[in-house]
Formats: sequence, structure tokens, C-alpha cells
Amino acid sequence: MLETPETEVVTDHLDAAALTEVAPWVQNWWYWQTECGVHAPAGRRYLRMLERAETMTVPERMEALRSGIATAWGQLTVTASANGEGRRRYTVRHTDDADASGLEPLATPEDARALATFDAQGRYRPLKSAPSLRRGWTFTEITARRLVGVIGYLYPASIPNWDREQADALDVTHWRPTAERQTGIYGIIEELDATAVEQVAATCCVDEECLKRREWEYDAETPLAVDGGTGAFPCREPCSLVVAAGRKWTTLEREATETYEIELTPAEAAQLSAVIDAVADGTAADIREADVGEGANRYRVRYLREKRFDADDQLQMRPKRGLVRRLVRRFT
Ligand code: SF4
Repeated sequence: MLETPETEVVTDHLDAAALTEVAPWVQNWWYWQTECGVHAPAGRRYLRMLERAETMTVPERMEALRSGIATAWGQLTVTASANGEGRRRYTVRHTDDADASGLEPLATPEDARALATFDAQGRYRPLKSAPSLRRGWTFTEITARRLVGVIGYLYPASIPNWDREQADALDVTHWRPTAERQTGIYGIIEELDATAVEQVAATCCVDEECLKRREWEYDAETPLAVDGGTGAFPCREPCSLVVAAGRKWTTLEREATETYEIELTPAEAAQLSAVIDAVADGTAADIREADVGEGANRYRVRYLREKRFDADDQLQMRPKRGLVRRLVRRFT
């Protein structure tokens, strides 16, 4: 007799018609019991998510897997497929290469580690969840076990954190407790107030900079107004990059503001904003040298430097202080 847990198929006579009907169930059982090779519950739930096990019946899944079921994961497209025996294989590509040909074949988790380390310009990627994964490669029809290893290098801890979130058990550590437990040179980040942390999150944690979805706030009672992003997997605490950057901002925030006098034409004042925008958005290198209408155009910026810098290569400007303040500053 063959009986499924959902009792959708019950038979005690395996003629050709019955075999056809039960084949998807048998293949599915065989794969998950003997072939999958992933035993960690989080990994198995992730694999089941890739083939929509919660929303499709077994026959529907087996049918869909023949042509492949694609899932976006950060900058990846992970496509689950199955052969005629129900054996799953997984193809991983950069989403922008989903339909590309002639891609470099990669195979091992070590390949994934190398891929995750440098961007297309060969620069080190300190944040693995930054949207800077290079293109031009494919992991084609790898096993489930290998897939979990590959994802672990490309987006570390994304599977277990996603799984905890699915179970409503994501253990979030907010900024304040993270800051309070810092020691040594990072202990000073405790000084950053909620407004500054808001700026930190807007700087580092938005979708343009990081593909994790920020779930941490300033503290449990003080949510941050800036959007946490739309990533497929969550960020459960401020990462080491943000903590390191936070240390620098803490020292910068210790300085009191000053009012400066600087002579600029209106166009030059607007140009300063354009330069800051282009550098912050990483678009400065995209501005062609012929586009002199752009404030951040290299020739425009060089001209501004020639005109407004002094002999010490600094922008000509001076703090605007009253006489008393100047004297106090000079003799203290
Ligand atoms: S703290 Fe921000 S930048 Fe760091 S991983 Fe989390 S969301 Fe990304």
C-alpha cells in the first residue's frame, strides 16, 4: 500500500495508472529522504522555500521543477530544477546574467568565497551584502549541499537568519545594546545619539548600499524613521562595517560647528552640492569629461580647485568669529 501524509493518494494496486499517479510522491519522498544531503533544518526549509513547498502540491512542484523555479536572493537568481527521477539541482547566477550565455563556470564553495571577496574593479568588498557582486559567472546544476555552501559564502548567515525570521524567532540586537557592549577603540560609539544613528542607517543600510533588510533600531523603544529596505533576508544587528564607520562619525561629531565665510558664485555653490551628491552616490566616475554642464565633471572640479584653493591646497574660507571668541580661541 502507498499512502501519503495528506492521504491524497492511497492505493494498494500499483498498475501503470497508479504508478503514474504516485510517481511524484515517491520521487519527492526519495529525494528528501535519501538524496538531498542537507540535514540542518534551516537549510532544508530554505530548499523547500526555493521550490514553493508551502504553496504547491507535490505533483505541481514536480511539474514546475522540470522547467525550473527561480528565486531572487540578494543579487542572485537561484533556480531549482528536477530531472525525471525527482533529483534536484540548483543553478545560481547574478540576476543581471539570468539569460546570459558564455558565463564562467564556477563549482565549489571556495569559488563562491573568491567571487564574494572582490568587486568587478578588483576592489575588496568589506560588506558581503553590498550590491557590488561582479557578473559573468554561473554555478550550474549544483547539489543542494553545495548550494547551501555557496550561499553561505555569498551572503553569510542569510539562510539561518531568514529561517529564524520565518519562525518569528529572529533575535534582533539594536544599536544601543550593540554600542554598550563594544570595548576598546569602539567603545566611543555609545556617544552617538538617535539622530546620528538615524544618519548612520540612512548612509549604510538602505537598499542602494546593502541588500539585507535592517531590522535593528536605535533601541527597542526608539525606532528609526529611515526605511529598513526590501531585502529578502534580514539584518539582525549593526555589522562590523557600520560599527567601524560609527567610530569615525563619533569622533567627527565631537567637534562643535562653526560658521565659515567663503566666496563662491551661485553656480559654484550649487557645484559643491553636485560634487557631494556624485561622490556619495558613486556616480562621479560615470560623468564623461565632455559633460562640463555637470557640477561634478572632472574639468569643472579642477577649475574650481584652481580658482578657490589657496597655497596650502585648501578651500579659501575662514571661520566667522567675533573678536572675543577669536581671542578666547587664541589664548586657550
Ligand atoms: S548593519 Fe546595515 S550595512 Fe550592515 S549588514 Fe546590516 S543593514 Fe547592511
